[in-house]
Amino acid sequence: MKENIFGKDINECEELMTGLGEARYRGKQLYQWLYEKKSEKFSEMTNFSSGLREKLSDKYELFHGRIETKQEDHHDGTKKYLIEQKDGQYIEAVLMHYEHGASLCVSTQVGCNMGCKFCASTRGGKIRDLSAGEILDQIYLAEKEEKLRISNIVIMGIGEPLENYDEVIKFIRIANTGFGIGQRKISLSTCGIIPGIEALAEENLQINLAISLHSVFSEQRKLLMPIAKKYDFESLMDACKAYFKKTGRRITYEYALIDGYNDRDEDIAGLIKLLKGSQNHLNLIGLNEIQETAYRESPRLNYFLGELEKNGINVTLRRKMGREIDAACGQLRKKRYEDKVSV
Ligand code: SAH
Repeated sequence: MKENIFGKDINECEELMTGLGEARYRGKQLYQWLYEKKSEKFSEMTNFSSGLREKLSDKYELFHGRIETKQEDHHDGTKKYLIEQKDGQYIEAVLMHYEHGASLCVSTQVGCNMGCKFCASTRGGKIRDLSAGEILDQIYLAEKEEKLRISNIVIMGIGEPLENYDEVIKFIRIANTGFGIGQRKISLSTCGIIPGIEALAEENLQINLAISLHSVFSEQRKLLMPIAKKYDFESLMDACKAYFKKTGRRITYEYALIDGYNDRDEDIAGLIKLLKGSQNHLNLIGLNEIQETAYRESPRLNYFLGELEKNGINVTLRRKMGREIDAACGQLRKKRYEDKVSV
């Protein structure tokens, strides 16, 4: 079987060319064809001789996944894609339109092993990691489908990015230097994998780090997010402090308000205690309700926002996008899987 060339980084492109007996600079040209010009075929690579194009297509393929389903929210223009991978697995990507441009939420794994109780993506566990090329392909496919340029990426789709560390970092670097998406326009969200946060601090990247917090109480957080049993709340906060110290990049904490769980007055007090005087940012989220769970959206979102603002916390409310299309990640894939199983 031919190897997919899409997803190769600059070093791999150079090695690939020298491996074919070509000069090293041909690798840079290949990289440009793949990511700057987004070529669809080897035959488009016109500064390569026909012999070289033939050598490339003998050994490699230029493969892209397929958008199998596209859902659109007609109210806010949010679009959700179910993308079929080469091995028949499905993942999701979500396109959102903001004043500052088009933002794509990408998946990093097929399924997820983290087990957060309120999340649809994790229900069937993780099947496999996505490769850098498969993550990148989500941008390629959305841009092609909509005939636009994606300016922002949020790594917040299906999967835990820091559990697929190498491929995610490789993806970020190609998105940045190949597709030309600014590092500051890339946000990565983690449920709190401490070794990953520590490694990320050393990468010298200017991306935004978001931490899924959802509770400031160690025991409650363990109930909502099993990963907190492995990486406890206090150690996570220490890792965040060290990350900020090392990178100078402020962290965003994500907090989905769940009715009767983390929306009590003591939770407000805990958030104020944690965040007062820090440069970090709090993003309050209205829970996307997943049918099979008992977790419901809290009616106290605006109250939380007001109280936190009153106390000088740097807080915003995440605007809900794609209400009409079950925009919570994982729901479309889950449905597709269930449909398949029931036939
Ligand atoms: N695994 C990573 C990234 C994927 S989830 C992480 O955990 O951060 C992206 C964000 O959506 C996380 O903050 C996650 O906790 C949140 N999330 C998951 N399910 C949700 C739901 N039903 N409603 C609102 N937010 C949800």
